[in-house]
Amino acid sequence: MSKWPDAIPRESNKNLEEIESISNWFAIYRINKDTFALLEPFHIEEVVSYLFIGEEQALLFDTGMGVVSIKQEVEALTEKELIVLNSHSHYDHVGGNYEFTNVWAFNNDWEIKRMKNGDYSQKRFKNFEDSNICTDLPSGFDKNSYHIKPSVVSKIIKDQERIDLGNRKLIIHHTPGHSPASICIQDYQYKLLFTGDTLYPGEMYLDLEGSDFDIYIKSINYLNDLYEELLFLCPGHNEALISRDYLRDFKNACEKVKSIIPQNPPHRNIDFGNFSISF
Ligand SMILES: [Zn+2]
Repeated sequence: MSKWPDAIPRESNKNLEEIESISNWFAIYRINKDTFALLEPFHIEEVVSYLFIGEEQALLFDTGMGVVSIKQEVEALTEKELIVLNSHSHYDHVGGNYEFTNVWAFNNDWEIKRMKNGDYSQKRFKNFEDSNICTDLPSGFDKNSYHIKPSVVSKIIKDQERIDLGNRKLIIHHTPGHSPASICIQDYQYKLLFTGDTLYPGEMYLDLEGSDFDIYIKSINYLNDLYEELLFLCPGHNEALISRDYLRDFKNACEKVKSIIPQNPPHRNIDFGNFSISF
């Protein structure tokens, strides 16, 4: 996969209609009539959050890094009542949670605790070292005091839970491995799967606290079984719309990684071209 920042805007994102954003921090793309991707391309993580709009409610899947207000971006796209749901609790996906009162979380104590506590690590400023940023940081943002504010979790959800936003049905798939409560959202209407950090083009981290490679393989195999029901995937980093063939590529890559793990020490990275796997 081509390297940030030379690769931005990425070719696949350029094919999408871009919507003007309020801040210069987000790049907003239309996935379809009722779905938007909110990218943060000027940070090396290139996080992508997604907004689903139904006839009665809207759901924001992840809230990004919390550098500028994602709420004001979302409110410019919809006036519907907002639900926030996170793909998992890593800092780059929950940064804007504090702006919302209706935050749903998957039923997992470890991840809910992280969301409720926030992240006040003294090392967080390192995320904004010059080498990780390719634009001027927004005025009012202080990287030295950067932290993740606590989330107010208002509802717990379960695997296979169905959410109806009003003529807009979504289903939750629990896909642990990258983290214990990683989830994906399947959108039947548009045949899309929003994969969070369970699958994205780029370096896939399966060597983090809470990661489990064997469990991850089961999740990828499970998602691969949805292949025929899908047209595209919408991942949590780098690109907002990618081929469903990534499901097969990841499944095959995991089998390859699994076959060589016993002969190798931990903490290795294997490059598969459009993505790599760290384990
Ligand atoms: Zn993550």
